[in-house]
Formats: sequence, structure tokens, C-alpha cells
Amino acid sequence: MKKEQKTVVIQTLGCKLNFAESAAMLQLLEQKGYRQVKMGEEADLCIINTCSVTETADQKDRQTIHKLVRMYPQAFVAVCGCYAQLKPQEIANIPGVDLVLGADFKLEMAELIEDKKRENCLVKASANDEIKRFLPACSKGNRTRFFLKVQDGCDYFCAYCTVPYARGRSRNPDIASLVAQAKEVAENGGKEIVLTGINIGTFGKSTGENFLQLIQALDQVEGIERYRISSMEPDLLSDEMIAFVAQSKRFAPHFHLPLQAGNNEMLDLMGRHYHRELFAEKIHAIKKAMPDAFIGVDVIVGMRGEKEELFEDGRQFLESLPISQLHVFSYSERPGTRALNIDYKVAEKDKKQRSRLLHELSEQKRLEFYRSQSGKKRSVLFEHGKKNGKMYGFSDNYIRVEAPYRKDWENSTQTLCLGNFNEDKSALIAKLS
Ligand code: SF4
Repeated sequence: MKKEQKTVVIQTLGCKLNFAESAAMLQLLEQKGYRQVKMGEEADLCIINTCSVTETADQKDRQTIHKLVRMYPQAFVAVCGCYAQLKPQEIANIPGVDLVLGADFKLEMAELIEDKKRENCLVKASANDEIKRFLPACSKGNRTRFFLKVQDGCDYFCAYCTVPYARGRSRNPDIASLVAQAKEVAENGGKEIVLTGINIGTFGKSTGENFLQLIQALDQVEGIERYRISSMEPDLLSDEMIAFVAQSKRFAPHFHLPLQAGNNEMLDLMGRHYHRELFAEKIHAIKKAMPDAFIGVDVIVGMRGEKEELFEDGRQFLESLPISQLHVFSYSERPGTRALNIDYKVAEKDKKQRSRLLHELSEQKRLEFYRSQSGKKRSVLFEHGKKNGKMYGFSDNYIRVEAPYRKDWENSTQTLCLGNFNEDKSALIAKLS
């Protein structure tokens, strides 16, 4: 029996921005009559939205492409995303790939796919410094959150990073269009929005607006109960933003700051825009204005130049800060980056050991933070789903909370007193009186 509707399988790798962009591409494909199906079901079209943050990410991209080509020999196979922008020809050489789209052409995915497989792969990618367009995107996460893309690209060119090449320079849509997207989320029952982008503190470069004005405008959208700011470069987090979040009912006391190294010599080698003193100032300013704020911090271990004493100095600095969690990344060599000019290379075993030490520190910080919140009343947005009779959600200040399952609490906010740790210490148990 012939299928009535054309079907598409989408595989997304990498960050939340990629997931939001896959959702936007799907919407455009739906307008062309496509319906999304799960991997393994019959499909006419396969899309692989790739990531290129590390060498391992590139490998995963290639494995996923090969897997889909094998699974769907008759389907049209299109590849986009950061790896497609950085290495379009490498992908075009994989037998079975029909279309490779760089960053500027994702918007045209629906127009460029064809009904049957191509004899030769079509590659459409502009030069890395000519990426200009903005693909508006907003996706529903797997729980209760929506991810709203407010900005794309980056002008910072940190020594280890290929993102400015893969995604182009910083650009953004205007505030009015983002407010309209937030209103749509509210109309669809969304309660929480995470503002995502690559370097969102540079918001406004394309429109003459700024990030503070954006959050002030979004704060007025009725129906959205909570916003989180995905990640903010420390040098761009202003006192005004901190003060605004502190008094806002909707912007959560939750910050995510990419420090990357806790030692100034390393920060210079990384080409970051600040020294650790500024970072410490920001952390203390947040904690002064919002003593219960959750602060997550990104750190890279094992970049070239990271001698043992520099790592240890950075680790001690991190230990001294009132932060709540670390997101630890192991450095990966990326072709074309300035970091490759640094002679000193960190041995793999040392990288692993440093990563382990920082993961341990992170867990210690998280437990300390959770402990400090036990006995406090916080608003908790519960997620859909039941696990062993329990349900889970996150407080405004990003504590994972466990409660006995109640259907009427799914996707709803409850103000509750937080109690002790649950069994595996991954959450605090809600005190129900
Ligand atoms: S700020 Fe640095 S690490 Fe972040 S995307 Fe830009 S260049 Fe990469």
C-alpha cells in the first residue's frame, strides 16, 4: 500500500541550538507535506544535523551519516550543521549523501531536497566569514522547557574554538519577533523558556538593541512563568542584568557562566576576554543580589599550555568560589585554531585525571548547594512522566526535586518546602505537609 504522506527522520547531534534549529527545519518541511517518523520507521528523507565541537563529535557525525545511509538506501540524505559548514567536501565524499548544507543554507532545506536520490551530491555552503543569515528557531525540550534561539554566531575567536568559523559572526533577530515567539510558546501551554544562542551577551549587534532590553521585554509576556539564560560570557554580564534578574518574577536565579580556566595565564592563552578577578567579582555580585542563585560554570581541562601548576592554581580558584556546579570539557585539538601554535601538550592521562578531579569538585559543590537549600521554600515546575511512583521537576534555582507522582502536577508550578536528599542524592525530596 502506498504511503500518503512523505516522511522524514531527523538525527540531531550537539547543542540545544542544533535541536532548536532541527525543530525549525521540521516546521518548514511540514509545510511541504512531510511528517516526522522515528528512526527505524519507513522514511523518504533523512536529515543529519551535525556538531563539530570536538574531534569525537566529528567522528559521531560520520558514524551517524553512515548508519542512516545504510538503513535508508532509497531515502534522500541531507546533512547540515557545524560539521557540514566546516568540512562540506568530506561529507559529500561519503557515498549515499545527496545534499550538504552549510550554516547559511539550513533555511533552504525544504526547497533543496529532491524526490529521488541524486547521482552527485549537491554542496551548498558559503565561506566561513560570509555566513550572514539567521534561522529563527524555538523547540520544545523533552520535558517542560522550550528553547528559544535569540542569537547566533560569535566574534570572540577564542584560541581553541571553531564555532565562529562554523556559525559565522554574531547576529540576532529583533526583540519584537522574539517576544512574538515567546507569546506563541505561552499560547501552546509552555511555562518555561531557555534563551539560547552562541554568545547571547552580544545580542543586539544586528538590531541596535541590547540583551538587557530583550530580557526586560520578555519579562512582560503573560503566561511564561520562568525564563533561564542559557550561558553568558562573564565580561558581558552587567550589573544591570544581575539587578534585573534579582527583582524579576520570571527570570530564574540561575546563571551559567563559561569561565574555561581558573588561572590567568591559561585565560590569556585561551584568548578569553577577562581575568579571573572579574569572574570572581561577577560571582560575588550574583550571590550578593541573590544568595540562593544556582551558578553553573564551564571549564576546559587539558588545553595546550596547561602545565600542572597552572591547572592546580585554577582548581584552587574554582574551589574558593561559591558556585553550584561545574561543566567539565576535555580539550580537543581543532584544525585551524590558534591553540595549535602552543607547544606544550597535555598528556591524555593527565587530561583524564584533571577531568576526574574537577568532576569530583563539581559534585562536592552541587551537594553543598543542595544542602544549603534544604528547608527553603521554592517554586518547582514538575515535568511530565512517572518513575517508580515519583515525579521530578526543577526549582527556580535549578534544584532537582522529587515528589510522589500526581497527574495534576505535570507541567505545573508548585511552591514547596525542600527537604532531604533522595536515595541517590540526585534530588531533594519535596516536603508535603
Ligand atoms: S566565546 Fe569563545 S568559546 Fe564561546 S563560541 Fe565564541 S569563540 Fe567559541
